[in-house]
Amino acid sequence: MADIKKWLDGRLFQLPISMAPPLRSVNSYLLRDPLSGELTIIDPGPRSETAEQEWERAAKLFEIGRQQVKQIIVTHHHPDHFGMAGWLQQRFEAPVFMSEAAHLEALRMWRPDRSMNRALPELFRQHGFPEPLASQLPEHLESFYRQVEPMPEVTYVDESCQVEMGGWRWQPVLTGGHATGHLSFYQADEHVMLCGDAVLPQISPNISFYPGGDEQPLLAFMEGLRKLGRYEVNQAFPGHRHPFDFFRSRVELLLDHHEERLARVSELLQEGAQTGYTVCEALFGVRPGIHQMRFAMSETLAHLVELVRRQEAEMTQDAGGLYRFTSRKAARIY
Ligand SMILES: [Zn+2]
Ligand SMILES: [Zn+2]
Repeated sequence: MADIKKWLDGRLFQLPISMAPPLRSVNSYLLRDPLSGELTIIDPGPRSETAEQEWERAAKLFEIGRQQVKQIIVTHHHPDHFGMAGWLQQRFEAPVFMSEAAHLEALRMWRPDRSMNRALPELFRQHGFPEPLASQLPEHLESFYRQVEPMPEVTYVDESCQVEMGGWRWQPVLTGGHATGHLSFYQADEHVMLCGDAVLPQISPNISFYPGGDEQPLLAFMEGLRKLGRYEVNQAFPGHRHPFDFFRSRVELLLDHHEERLARVSELLQEGAQTGYTVCEALFGVRPGIHQMRFAMSETLAHLVELVRRQEAEMTQDAGGLYRFTSRKAARIY
């Protein structure tokens, strides 16, 4: 396990939990109530043998006995955050809290009927995703199942209820776009934000367009950024990489980044009709591995549907079922 770091006068601990490249680790956090000693675990990481060992070591280090874990909080349903929640719930007999929307996403993605295994390749094919890649998707999605077992019993939390962690009260802040039902948590006296993957330093959180998910994920993400940007934040604790003190400027930078990318996609469409995949290739190139390609495709579609919403592009479907995007702006004259 990489170093555990201590923050906020020893109330907050950052535990990096191992995960697959390219991210390599996710930040779990442990908050300790200075009076009662009760612990809150935030985003326990993806289930793997290594992660189990890392949590066993943390349990010894923090002398986590049974009943001492007051609660497990999950910011969103992605396996690198939600995965170990069920395992830790059984180990420490603690309730798991997440938003209802996030829990529904978890059920849609990870319950055994596997509808996403058919729906996602089908959607991507309709947007020109090449067959050799589309046919890898079902097995790729299945590879995550073992990272989220067992599924926890979940108690819902929303913006109307404050959550007590580490002896402080925290306000849940609901945002979408990266993951439907994503909750960040704000501590108003300390000006601290636990922001999951809603805002990350160095990395631009992936925007997910997928079947049955948010129909306008980029809009949801950008609205979420504007909402988060209104909070006074001195220190932000993200789901990946290091805590940072430039929360508001990071929010602004991410908003600018997506506006610039929208402009780039809009320009590409002015050169002629494009499928989602040809735009994806132009933006991201051909990336190694299906995981990277899935993220790139999902993010490209999120930008394209935002241009359609802004009436800058039009989406049409041909007789074979293939979607194409065309610019609604006049072609540029060189
Ligand atoms: Zn995520
Ligand atoms: Zn993550």
